[in-house]
Amino acid sequence: PTLIQIRNLKKTYAAGRVQALSNINLDIADGEFVCVVGPSGCGKSTLLRILAGLDDYDSGQVMLGTKTVSGPSRDVGVVFQQANLLPWLTVRENVALPLRVGGGRPDGADDVDRLLEVAGLKDFGGRYPYELSGGMQQRAGICRALVRNPRILLMDEPFGALDALTRERMNLELQRIWQSTGKTVMLITHSISEAIFLADRVIVMSARPGRVLRELTVDIPRPRS
Ligand code: ADP
Ligand code: ADP
Repeated sequence: PTLIQIRNLKKTYAAGRVQALSNINLDIADGEFVCVVGPSGCGKSTLLRILAGLDDYDSGQVMLGTKTVSGPSRDVGVVFQQANLLPWLTVRENVALPLRVGGGRPDGADDVDRLLEVAGLKDFGGRYPYELSGGMQQRAGICRALVRNPRILLMDEPFGALDALTRERMNLELQRIWQSTGKTVMLITHSISEAIFLADRVIVMSARPGRVLRELTVDIPRPRS
């Protein structure tokens, strides 16, 4: 079943002078892992921010299930290039933070420890962010995005600031996390090879002359575990 449905989505900045998205149509199925690639400035981050409810749009339809996106929602977790963990909180407290903000559940603590284990951070819950490597901080950021059990995980170049070797390891970790949580994932990356390695489907956004944006979908057959 379709979880994310985007129809005729248009988005401009600077009072209409910058066209960021000209006419995007996209369906993403429940449980799918989609990567979005494309040159700088083609509108990838804008698309993700709109889906996350962090940005408004000019016209079109953006639906999560049966709900129109109109602001941040519990259904969506977001990860950016920087983990932005709060330095005065431990890793476990950072991951648990969204539970407190959104009205905590008593069983929240179990979820935190389970997520930390899935992300390979079991022994680091009591540590502070500065004690962790960049890759581990990003994994903690992914845990924090998942802690309220959203249906959708959106990631904008989550490993962009890491070196190539660490990125490769992180991709394996991410695949493991995805397989053990069953989320619908949309990941923005500059790396085609990363996209092909990770995704069920790669969305290619291209900026044509005149800033008209095109979307092309390539289906990649891949065994699912
Ligand atoms: P990408 O993520 O693919 O690099 P973006 O979504 O960041 O692309 O940007 C799409 C277009 O919108 C670019 O031309 C960019 O310069 C412009 N843009 C993005 N954010 C803003 C903003 N806050 N104000 C004005 N223009 C913006
Ligand atoms: P990188 O250190 O290159 O960013 P990772 O984040 O993938 O790579 O870390 C690889 C492994 O190195 C971790 O799973 C962990 O076992 C170990 N490690 C990294 N940083 C620390 C640290 N500060 N303390 C203890 N072990 C660490």
